[in-house]
Amino acid sequence: MQLAEFALGPLETNSFLLHDEQRAVCIDVGGDPDEVLAYLSRNKLTLTHILITHLHFDHVLGAASLQKATQATLYCNHRDLPMLERQNYGGMFPPITPFSYSDLDEGPLPLPVAECSVLATPGHSPGSLSYYFAEAGVLFDGDVLFRQSIGRTDFYEGDFRTLAESIRNKIYTLPDSTRVCPGHGPSTSVRAEKISNPFVPGL
Ligand SMILES: [Zn+2]
Repeated sequence: MQLAEFALGPLETNSFLLHDEQRAVCIDVGGDPDEVLAYLSRNKLTLTHILITHLHFDHVLGAASLQKATQATLYCNHRDLPMLERQNYGGMFPPITPFSYSDLDEGPLPLPVAECSVLATPGHSPGSLSYYFAEAGVLFDGDVLFRQSIGRTDFYEGDFRTLAESIRNKIYTLPDSTRVCPGHGPSTSVRAEKISNPFVPGL
């Protein structure tokens, strides 16, 4: 299993490609997906799925464009849908181009590239999903848990207690060695955050 990372869009949101040298899945599309498309084409990969961690604009700005270019199936959670219309920010950021989606919730998600477990991890947004790939030992958690930080809870339906519960019950219960790849900034591990995260200590 190979992992490629791209920082896309106005907030340099991490987008990830997980692939087996034939097929790939993409996690979040924070802006113009040209780099992602170039990588897919250079490595002769077929993108089968686009997995969205949550529907804040900076995680889906390039979703419609990537979907149009690849015909990949896009998954997100319906609890975040009301946010799609609430993110104008006085025209500070480009509007979200509509995309088609399939509703996804907690549970197993067999993908061509690997088995994935979908975890419901609300608190930063009501429909935040995290994607756990047990065999690769990697978690894509959007804006739930960052290295030495956690997601904001002052947006639509954000809630600190809910976020802390998601982190403790869904993320800190994964194997300590799990690599955590968040939506912004560097990756970390379950072990490192349990020991030293200043906002949600795990021990
Ligand atoms: Zn967010």
